[in-house]
Amino acid sequence: MIRSMPSVQQADIIIIGAGVIGISIALQLQQQGKQVLLLDNQDPNARTSIGNAGAFAFSDIIPLATPGIMAKAPKWLVDPLGPLSIPASYALPILPWMLHFWRASWADRYQSSLTAQASLMQLSKTALDRQVLTTHAEHLIRHEGQLQLYQGQAEFEGSLSGWRTRQEHGVTCELLTNQADIADIQPGLDRSFTHAGFTPEWKNTTHPEAWLNHLSRTFFSGPGQVLHDHALSLALKDNGVHIKGQKNDYFAPQVVVSAGAWSKALAASIGDSLPLETERGYNTTLPAGAFDLRTHLTFSNHGFVVTKVGEQIRVGGAVELGGLALAPNYRRAKLLLDKATQFLPSLNPAGGQQWMGFRPSMPDSLPVISPSGQSKRVVYAFGHGHLGLTQSAGTAELVCDLLLGKSPRIDLAPFSAQRF
Ligand SMILES: Cc1cc2nc3c(=O)[nH]c(=O)nc-3n(C[C@H](O)[C@H](O)[C@H](O)COP(=O)(O)OP(=O)(O)OC[C@H]3O[C@@H](n4cnc5c(N)ncnc54)[C@H](O)[C@@H]3O)c2cc1C
Repeated sequence: MIRSMPSVQQADIIIIGAGVIGISIALQLQQQGKQVLLLDNQDPNARTSIGNAGAFAFSDIIPLATPGIMAKAPKWLVDPLGPLSIPASYALPILPWMLHFWRASWADRYQSSLTAQASLMQLSKTALDRQVLTTHAEHLIRHEGQLQLYQGQAEFEGSLSGWRTRQEHGVTCELLTNQADIADIQPGLDRSFTHAGFTPEWKNTTHPEAWLNHLSRTFFSGPGQVLHDHALSLALKDNGVHIKGQKNDYFAPQVVVSAGAWSKALAASIGDSLPLETERGYNTTLPAGAFDLRTHLTFSNHGFVVTKVGEQIRVGGAVELGGLALAPNYRRAKLLLDKATQFLPSLNPAGGQQWMGFRPSMPDSLPVISPSGQSKRVVYAFGHGHLGLTQSAGTAELVCDLLLGKSPRIDLAPFSAQRF
């Protein structure tokens, strides 16, 4: 039997993964005159960059692993309506990640993660402005702020240290302590919501899918190329990086791994062991007219948001530490929608489309933006958790710095692949 040899495709730089991180890096490199090849497997289950809540959440600088969180977690885990769940079959596999998460919640680590996150957010905010300008994307940005809601004085007071921290890092916010002020921004809330924090500078994309499509089209309007293939492994040799794909083999002097929650296996193939897991999130997208939404609503103590996607309303959030292989449990999407209907009495919950996505998450809430421990020829850009859209333009600029041998515009030590 004659077997045909797979061809080897080559480029200056190959990027594995064309989600919002990969495509932003591709665009940035293209603007620097680099010949870029994007490799994406077009997995229909890997649509996190288009199914998300569309927020550029620059005020979300506080890592999830806060001091004291481990005391609260068991209470959430036993509550079937709670914001956090671990399926029984994933309780063991998630243990190493949970141990890192616990360590990240200690006061010293928390403080350094917070500082690092704030610096990445600062960069990402201005980088987004640059990206919007260069890609002519202003029509895809909504400027309606965000309202973070609390039920009662005690819950509000519990949030105040977080608001102080945000203010110390330059986040503009207004703290609202009467319902009339809240209703001026968003009418139609249940009367149990008595207090709120409003971040007027918060932005959303009008539609995450339209956003990704716009960036992709801009990339393709230059000499950029995308190939549909599944990257299986990497190998360092011949002064470059070989990629074994399902259909073809590839070679480039430099490779970026930005395959979201699926990046762990690719890093492992060249000997980098990273505690990347996925926080699965759920949402329901309701038809246009389901609710008169005036701003992005965050019910942080219930772990979900309500946001506009085009003219539709998306209700979603939750964290399910369930890995990549388990089937979705859409009961979680239904639970969030039930809560939203309770909190927004005029919301029409009919006709919704349910969805689950895979947040690529590191235990300290910081992404990996770093050369591989094995070679500078491989650069990692994954693990952005709840903030991949928010930090995509900033990450792209930093990855470009690394690939082009420039000194990175913020300290990248906290984002190193070797930090664990
Ligand atoms: C419910 C929910 C709401 C969210 N809301 C927000 C929000 O409002 N704001 C925000 O900033 N973030 C939000 N996020 C997080 C955000 O969506 C993610 O952080 C972001 O999409 C990650 O982007 P990525 O490009 O790293 O990964 P992905 O979007 O997962 O893209 C990875 C790409 O790589 C491809 N791929 C994977 N493996 C391979 C392989 N081996 N070979 C080739 N291709 C491969 C996949 O097909 C995919 O196209 C939310 C997430 C969820 C689940």
